[in-house]
Amino acid sequence: MTNRRDFLKNASLLTLGGLVAGKASVSAATAASAPISAQASKNFGLQTYSLSRELAEDVAGGLKKVKAMGYSYIELAGYNQAEGKIGQVSMADYKKMADDAGLKIVSSHLNPPVRGAYSAENRGEISEFWKKAADHHAAIGCEKIIQPGQPSTPSVEQAKLIGEVFNDAGRIAKAAGLSWGYHNHDGEFARIVPGGTEAITGRRMPRPVPEGMMVIEEAYMEYTDPSLVFFELDVYWTVMGQNDPVEFMKKHPTRINKILHIKDKYALGQSGMMNFENIFKQAYANGVSQFIVELESVASTGMTQFEGAKASADYLKNASFVR
Ligand code: MG
Repeated sequence: MTNRRDFLKNASLLTLGGLVAGKASVSAATAASAPISAQASKNFGLQTYSLSRELAEDVAGGLKKVKAMGYSYIELAGYNQAEGKIGQVSMADYKKMADDAGLKIVSSHLNPPVRGAYSAENRGEISEFWKKAADHHAAIGCEKIIQPGQPSTPSVEQAKLIGEVFNDAGRIAKAAGLSWGYHNHDGEFARIVPGGTEAITGRRMPRPVPEGMMVIEEAYMEYTDPSLVFFELDVYWTVMGQNDPVEFMKKHPTRINKILHIKDKYALGQSGMMNFENIFKQAYANGVSQFIVELESVASTGMTQFEGAKASADYLKNASFVR
């Protein structure tokens, strides 16, 4: 059975554009020799989830540290609608702390409270959530609201319903002057069929390939209006979904053209499994203008969350392919 470790090992033998292992670490080593101080400020931001525990201890001070690392904007996580807070901080206070630090809040991750079970019955409830969320975020000048949690999607029919619910959210955001996006993990690269009862992962691919089979992420694209819904591709989770983020961006230039999640298994450039040079080149070609660094778990490498964020910023500051 192919587990994740085997996949990573096998991936290192392939020459997929997004995966060329070894190449990324060579780039990192080369980049590390360039003087950081010589670099002008570059265009990248940080998803605050990356610092969740450590940032919560001192948000105002922590955001100043983030700015000093070279990040120029942030994407929020931890929206609490009932209390109008981000984590334990009121949204107005958070905005002030970000302003004081010199960081722009460009986007925010949030999920409607329906546990991923979308239906005709709770469609209205989901819309109510987005209405309030759009107002809360418009009030702090945050222009993008993004859903990072995947609704349960066992069939093409359910993907169509989800597409309509996403369009509702996009319409609501647009009316408030915001834009609405969807952020993937690896589950969106499973496949669905008409009348299906569960998503099909790569290893269980039926032969012959069933009629009408779709990749879930592409079904979401198919059933949403491009003027209402954009896609914030998480390049690491795309690789974990056994897809090449470069090829995927190439295939969908009009849907993945605003904002990206730049992520690695550890701090950026540490795993050797992400070819960020090719990823950035393609992202610029698609017109992506915002790059959000996100860290999952740096603890296993002995780093604190702040150290991981700094190492990632240094990697991007030193990378000649990052503008
Ligand atoms: Mg992400």
